[in-house]
Amino acid sequence: MQFCDVALPVPLDTAFSYRVPEGMEPAVGGRVLVPFRQQRMSGIVVDLHDRKPGVQTKNVVSVLDPAPVLDAQLMRLGKWIADYYLAPLGEVFRTMLPLSAEFKRTITYRITEHGQLALHLGGISGSSARARRTPEEQDAEFRVLDYLANRDDAREQSLRGATHVSKAVLGGMVRKKWIVREDVSDARDAARTVKIAILRSEASGPQGEEDEALAPAGLAGSEPERTTARRSVKKLNGNQQTLIEALTAGGGRLAVEMLRTLDVPTSTLSSLVRRGLVEIVEEPAEFHVSRVKARPSPFDFEFNAAQKQALQRIVEAVNARKFAGMLLHGVTGSGKTAVYLASMRAVLEAGRSAILLVPEIGLTPAVAADLHQVFGEEVAILHSALSDQERAEQWHRIKSGEARMVVGTRSAVFAPVADLALIIVDEEQDSSYKQEETPRYHARDVAVMRAKMANAAVALGSATPSLESYYNAKKSKYALVELPDRVEQRPLPEVELIDMKQEFQETGQEQVISRKLAEEIRERLERKEQVMILLNRRGYSPVALCRACGSRMECRNCAVALTHHKKASRMVCHYCGFQVPVPKVCGECGSEYVYFLGTGSEKLEELLHGMFPTARIGRLDRDTVRGKDDFERVLSALNEGELDLLVGTQMIAKGHDVHGVTLVGVVGADIALGLPDFRAAERTFQLLTQVAGRAGRGQTPGKVVLQTYFPDHYAVQYAAHHDFAGFYEKELRFRSWMHYPPYSALANVLIRSDKLDEALLWSGMLGKWFDQTRHEGVRVLGPAAAPILRLKRDYRYHFVLKSPSREKLNTVLRSMLAYAALQKIPRTQVIVDVDALWLM
Ligand SMILES: [Zn+2]
Ligand SMILES: [Zn+2]
Repeated sequence: MQFCDVALPVPLDTAFSYRVPEGMEPAVGGRVLVPFRQQRMSGIVVDLHDRKPGVQTKNVVSVLDPAPVLDAQLMRLGKWIADYYLAPLGEVFRTMLPLSAEFKRTITYRITEHGQLALHLGGISGSSARARRTPEEQDAEFRVLDYLANRDDAREQSLRGATHVSKAVLGGMVRKKWIVREDVSDARDAARTVKIAILRSEASGPQGEEDEALAPAGLAGSEPERTTARRSVKKLNGNQQTLIEALTAGGGRLAVEMLRTLDVPTSTLSSLVRRGLVEIVEEPAEFHVSRVKARPSPFDFEFNAAQKQALQRIVEAVNARKFAGMLLHGVTGSGKTAVYLASMRAVLEAGRSAILLVPEIGLTPAVAADLHQVFGEEVAILHSALSDQERAEQWHRIKSGEARMVVGTRSAVFAPVADLALIIVDEEQDSSYKQEETPRYHARDVAVMRAKMANAAVALGSATPSLESYYNAKKSKYALVELPDRVEQRPLPEVELIDMKQEFQETGQEQVISRKLAEEIRERLERKEQVMILLNRRGYSPVALCRACGSRMECRNCAVALTHHKKASRMVCHYCGFQVPVPKVCGECGSEYVYFLGTGSEKLEELLHGMFPTARIGRLDRDTVRGKDDFERVLSALNEGELDLLVGTQMIAKGHDVHGVTLVGVVGADIALGLPDFRAAERTFQLLTQVAGRAGRGQTPGKVVLQTYFPDHYAVQYAAHHDFAGFYEKELRFRSWMHYPPYSALANVLIRSDKLDEALLWSGMLGKWFDQTRHEGVRVLGPAAAPILRLKRDYRYHFVLKSPSREKLNTVLRSMLAYAALQKIPRTQVIVDVDALWLM
């Protein structure tokens, strides 16, 4: 084949053709390195053919994988995602393949003829350009041209080191065509090797002596004439001895990387190598998984009837080797996890593969330890804390068939397992399954499609299924499997609603903790039971206002209020991370009367300390949890009875099993009901149900005190009565009237620009286009300012498209993108979010 079409990770909806030089053999589904604009890029070969392209083609630089890294099934899945979510295929493939760590990038610059002229004639470009340059910029440019003038090219690092110029200056010079930037990406050692240090005896020494020669220096007191290595050992200094001892303890060989962790200078190893005592060889990397100590298995798999039935249904579906979708609806505490693991074990015993997807927050080190306990070396765990290198290692373990059980967050749905039998999506309603950048896929929906392509079974599990999945089950697209009871027949907690409007009338002031909740907490503390309190808002106060002029303190980059963080003494934007010190005076009018409104989790913790001075109080939110370990630490403190009270955001609501908690207080969980988003009721119902599910998982029955300003809202009412079916019926009726999912396919089209008039112009152009073209069966709402008008410096306008026909919807979106391209609206500034979860 003379040509290949390559999908590159660029925001363009097309593959690019290249000529295949003699002797190169790329494979469909494998990576090649190709020139693209001023760079080299790796992309996936999507087609090999002999059709001569209409345009001139460049040559493939090198073939990175002689065999496909994406098999036919994953290629098909990638194309489906690109089509369904209107995402560039190359960007989809990049998301599917976590192998970026296998590349190193080298950026080089070289001078052009134009640049040579500029150097010698002192800046020939247009007078306007010169006029805008400061003398400092001109100096910087001169230094760069001068440095490059006598070289073929220079690496970015050396160039910047020698000339002290910013990347912005280099970028400007590239635009003026004075210099050319080249991005040379090279595949790292395809074989993936590691450096191993090996202790040497004298090369001629007989085998039997090796052990002796390897003896640590302290043992080197016996006959000096045995080997030269031995003689040398006697003269080692302390650092050298440390290394030799470590090597000896490692059986004479250790990865160089391991030796680096010892507290000795790196030169020590080199000197041992020079003295011929240690040899360094490169060997193919062995996969190693960093692991935590295993805990005794919490899964004894003694199932109740419902669990047994659920397991049987899954195993039957797997054995049928046909696509089967199941919705596993189990109340909180009904033992879903045990069912997942038992069915995965059945798949493993059948010699096939399974994938378990979990929400981001679900993969703690303890969970990983449990998984190792159940599956040993057969499990690969993919979580967000992995480095690129570790991720690539896990990918290879899966690809090679070494690990057939895969557990991970969103992107684990792309794990390259062979003979896929089962995909389980735990907490399938969790929003972390939706990727909020290109490609904007939903891992649950991709899981269903992948299972279809593989003739596999897919089980979606939840205590609070999404409306979409519940609807599919009602329509018999999925089989509904119920786990209606808690294990050991523990009752669901009693829920008491507190009307906070009434509380205000009776007490005459705004309360954070109602009298009833305070009383219940006190009772629990006296009985040495534990309490959880949910306030789904982090920080100290969400709003800072000036009493004199009324202005609200906003983020510089976003149209949102800055949140006061008291301990950090900062005002923080929760959307872009922008921070400023806490103001002493109003930034608008200079008045000293700045005051802080509302309560976040940090303030709630302080408040509770005041109310219950002897209680041991912990807090779980994104400010106290920096890594997975923090999360685990706080939870295990609660488990061990080292905490009496735990305050937190929705983090505390998610699937963990703490048996001592008998009271859950919900403070302001209905904040979301005020948002202009059609999913607000669903989210509130799910959050309330999840957090209520934390109460009474042990021997003592639990209670929930739910404070709300909307006591009559159906989401609150149905959650209080544990009435899932009631909520879903009501919410489905509402969605049907309003033509919202699951009755309509929905897409959010967001137009953004850091220049307001550009955002307005573009959304106006698209608005006009939507008006003028006929789209039968597709409703277009907008353009309207997005609820958050400005975010991360971009002004944002949006359209919402709804249609009962997904095909029609996607056709309209496709022609809209084509029109936008024609009008030169950059593809990156028009965001198409199919099945959007947020319309904010
Ligand atoms: Zn003011
Ligand atoms: Zn911001």
